[in-house]
Amino acid sequence: PKYVYEFSEGNKDLKDLLGGKGANLAEMTNLGLPVPPGFTITTDACRHYLEHGAMPDGLDDAIAASLATLESAMGKRLGQADDPLLVSVRSGAKFSMPGMMETVLNIGLNDESVEGLAAQSGNERFAWDSYRRLIQMFGKTVQDIDGELFETAIEQVKAQKNITNDLDLDAADLRKLVEVFKGIVAEQTGGEFPGDPRRQLDLAVKAVFTSWNAPRAVLYRRQERIPADLGTAVNICSMVFGNLGMDSGTGVAFTRDPASGQQGVYGDYLQNAQGEDVVAGVRNTVPLADLERLDAHSYNELLAIMETLENHYRDLCDIEFTIERGKLWMLQTRVGKRTAAAAFRIADQLVDQGMITLDEAVLRVTGDQLAQLMFPRFDETAERRRLGRGMNASPGAAVGKAVFDSYTAVKWSRSGENVILCRRETNPDDLEGMIAARGILTSRGGKTSHAAVVARGMGKTCVCGAEELDVDTKNRRLTGPSGETIEEGDVISIDGTTGEVFLGEVPVVSSPIVRYFDGEIDPASDQADDLVRAVHRIMHYVDAARRLYVRANADSAEDAARARRMGAQGIGLCRTEHMFLGDRRQLVERLILADTDKEQQEALASLLPLQRDDFIEILESMDGLPVTVRLLDPPLHEFLPDITELSVRVAVAEARGEKHENDLRLLQAVHRLHEQNPMLGLRGVRLGLVVPGLFTMQVRAIAQAAAERTRQGGRPRPEIMIPLVGTVQELEIIRDESLRVLREVGEEYGVELDFPVGTMIELPRAALTAGQIAENAAFFSFGTNDLTQTVWGFSRDDVEASFFSAYLEKGVFGISPFESLDIDGVGRLIRIAVEEGRAARPGIKLGICGEHGGDPASVHFFHQVGLDYVSCSPFRVPVARLEAGRAAA
Ligand code: ADP
Ligand code: MG
Ligand code: MG
Repeated sequence: PKYVYEFSEGNKDLKDLLGGKGANLAEMTNLGLPVPPGFTITTDACRHYLEHGAMPDGLDDAIAASLATLESAMGKRLGQADDPLLVSVRSGAKFSMPGMMETVLNIGLNDESVEGLAAQSGNERFAWDSYRRLIQMFGKTVQDIDGELFETAIEQVKAQKNITNDLDLDAADLRKLVEVFKGIVAEQTGGEFPGDPRRQLDLAVKAVFTSWNAPRAVLYRRQERIPADLGTAVNICSMVFGNLGMDSGTGVAFTRDPASGQQGVYGDYLQNAQGEDVVAGVRNTVPLADLERLDAHSYNELLAIMETLENHYRDLCDIEFTIERGKLWMLQTRVGKRTAAAAFRIADQLVDQGMITLDEAVLRVTGDQLAQLMFPRFDETAERRRLGRGMNASPGAAVGKAVFDSYTAVKWSRSGENVILCRRETNPDDLEGMIAARGILTSRGGKTSHAAVVARGMGKTCVCGAEELDVDTKNRRLTGPSGETIEEGDVISIDGTTGEVFLGEVPVVSSPIVRYFDGEIDPASDQADDLVRAVHRIMHYVDAARRLYVRANADSAEDAARARRMGAQGIGLCRTEHMFLGDRRQLVERLILADTDKEQQEALASLLPLQRDDFIEILESMDGLPVTVRLLDPPLHEFLPDITELSVRVAVAEARGEKHENDLRLLQAVHRLHEQNPMLGLRGVRLGLVVPGLFTMQVRAIAQAAAERTRQGGRPRPEIMIPLVGTVQELEIIRDESLRVLREVGEEYGVELDFPVGTMIELPRAALTAGQIAENAAFFSFGTNDLTQTVWGFSRDDVEASFFSAYLEKGVFGISPFESLDIDGVGRLIRIAVEEGRAARPGIKLGICGEHGGDPASVHFFHQVGLDYVSCSPFRVPVARLEAGRAAA
C-alpha cells in the first residue's frame, strides 16, 4: 500500500486515510493556497505500527523519497548544517482528540544547524529560540518529560534578568536555555538529545503513532464512541517562521464569529511568535482586525483566502496561519466548532447567500443545540461580577445561597431558601442535597464526574471542575482566584451553559426561543431577532419534512396546552397517578383499606367523578388530537403514608393512650403492600387484575369524559393504554373489560365511543411475544424507561446515583442508557416487536413514550425503525420535531 501522500495528492474526503488535518492541508494545497510543502503518513501505517510494534515494510523508503522530493523543492536538506530545512511533525486523526500527542516544531535543528539557521536568517535570537522550542517540545511530547521542568527553567532565567516578557530574552539567554534544556533531557532520560535530524523525525513519527494509545486518548474514544482502531495520520510540513521578528507572527481566524455566528473578521494574532503561543496565553494577542494596520498586504490576502475557503467548504471554517517576513502561510483549516446560536444563524445565513439548501441547513443544526437555546439564561445586560469559571456540566441558570453540605442544603431548602450546593466533588451521600439545591458547583472533576452525571440526569444546573475556586467545606467558605470569599449563606449565581460563576444574584430571563415556541414572539414581527427567525425557518421546514409525529407526555390541562403550543400533535402519555394524590389520597386509602366489596365500590365511585373532570379538561385542551391515557401504573403503597412516619404516629398515639385504629390499619396495609423490588412488583396491569373495579373505574371516567366532550361539540380522541403487560392474556382480560365499559357508557350517553385500546411494550417478554400481543392491541407504545431497566436489570433510581458515574468514567458506556437509547440491546427488542407486531396486525400504530422520545440520537433510531410517533416532555417537543426532520432529510 501507499503509506505516504504528498499534500498535492490528497483531498478533503480522505480523512480516514490522511486524518482531518492532512486531508484539509491537501485540499488547501490543491486550491492553490499558500501551504508550506509537505506530506502525510497514512493511518494505515499507524495501524500497522500499533499492531506489529514495527513500521511497515517500505514506509522508511517512502518517507525518504518524499523527504528527498521536499528537499529538492526547497533547495536544502533536512537539518543541513549551513542552511537547514526544518519540518514540523503533526498528529492528525480523523476526529480531533484531546490526550494525543501534539505537534513538534523545528525538527532538524542541532548544534550545527542552529548556527546555519542563524547565519542564513541573519537573526541569531530567532535561531536559538527555535532550537530551545524544539528541545522543549520534543522532550515533552516524544520523551515524556514533565513540561513544568522546562517552564520553570525559563521562569528562572526571566527572574534572574528581572523581565516578564519572553521577547526580552536575547540570543545569549536562549543559548543558555538550550544548555539547561539539554541538561534536563540528560537527567530525565539518561541520554542525550538526539542531534541527528532524520532520527528526530523518526522518533517523533513513532511517538505520534504511539500516542494513539495514550490512556487519555483511549478513554476519550471510549466515551465518545470513536472506534479504537482508526489510528492517526502524521503530517510532515516544512517550517515557516512566525518568530523571525515583528514583521512575522502567527494567528488563528474564523470566517464568521463562532460565538454568535455574525459575519465579520474574527481571530487573534501575535507578532513574532510561533505555534501555540497564540492560544497558550503567554503573551497578549491582538484582534485579527489589527493585522490590517500591521501588515495590510497579508491581511487582505488572508481575507481573500477566508472567502475562498468558505465558498469551498460552504460553512464556517477555522484557520491557523503564520506570517513569515510579510509572507502569509496557511497551516490548517477545518469546518469550525460553534455555539448553538451561531449554528442556527450560520445555517440561515448560508441559505440566504445561496450557498446551501434548506435540506442541508437542517443537517447543520442539532436538537442538542436547540435544547441549549431553550434554557433560561442570565440577563446579559445586567451588571455581573464573575467569580470564576468551571465546566458547563449541565445547562441552565441557577441562583441561590451557597451551602457546603448536603444536610444544610436540605434544611435550608425546606425552609424555602434557594441554595447552591458547593462541594469539592460530590458522591452518593450528597444526593439529597443535590436534589434540594437549585444548582450544583464543584471545584474538581470533569463532565463525567458524579456531580455532572447526576445533575444532568436530574436536569439540574451544574458547573463542575471550577479549579480556580477553592471550596473549603470545613470552614464553609469559597474563595475566588483574587481572594474574594463567599461564606455560607452568601448568594451566588451559576451558569451551567457557559460554566461561569457570579457573585450575588444575576437576574434570569426566559429564552426568546421558548417565548417564540410559546407564541409570545411572532417571528414576523420586530420582536423577533435573527436567531428567532432562523429557528422559525428551520422548524417550519422540518415540520413539513418529517415522517414521525411528535406528541407530548402531559397529565394536566396546563401541560397539554403548553405542549400544543410547542407543536405537539397529541399526548402520547397521560399518566393517571397524580390524579390519586393530594386530597384524593384519603379516597385511595379507603380503597386500599376496604374490607368489603361495598366499601371498595364506594371508594371507587367517589374517585370516578374526580378522574372524569381531569380527563374532560385534558381532552378539551387537546381537542381533535389523540390523547393516550395510561391506566394506573405505580404500586399502591406509593399512595400510602411513609412507613416511618406512620410507625411513629402509631407509637406516640399508643403511648398517650389515644385512639389510633385507622393509623394502625394503615400501617398494617403498608406492611402488607411493602415490596422488596417495587419496580418488579404489584403494578401496572397486575393491579388492574387484582384490584377489582380499579381499571374499569378509570375507563369509565375516560368514557364519560369523552361523552361529555362530544356533547359539548368537541372532538375527543382518547386512547386507552394498559401498562406493564407481559403476556397477551393480561391484555385480553383488561381489554375486554374496557371495551365493555366503553359500550355501556356509549349507550348511556347515546354516543359512539369507539376508542382504541392498546398496550405499552416495556417488558422484554412483551417485546418478544409482540406478535401475539398485537392480536389484541390497537397500538403499541414502547415504554423505554422501564424497558431499559428490565433489559439491563438495573433500577434507574438506584444506579444513577451509585455507579453510573464510575461506569461513564471507565467508558463502559459513553452515555447513560436512560438518556440515550441503548440501540444494540433495547433497540434490538424494539425492532423485533415492530416487525412481529406489524406482521400480526398490519397498520398497528406504534409509538414511544419514554424520556428517549426527546433524545436526538434515539429519535433517529425511532425514525429508522419505522415508528409512527415519539412522545416526550413538552419542552423537548421542539427538539424531537427538529430531529425527526433531520432524520428524514
Ligand atoms: P493542533 O492539532 O494542536 O492544532 P498543529 O499541528 O496544528 O496542532 O500545530 C500547532 C501549531 O503549530 C500550528 O497552529 C502552527 O502555529 C504551528 N505549526 C505547525 N506546523 C508548522 C509549520 N510547518 N510551520 C510553522 N508553524 C507550524
Ligand atoms: Mg492546529
Ligand atoms: Mg413504565
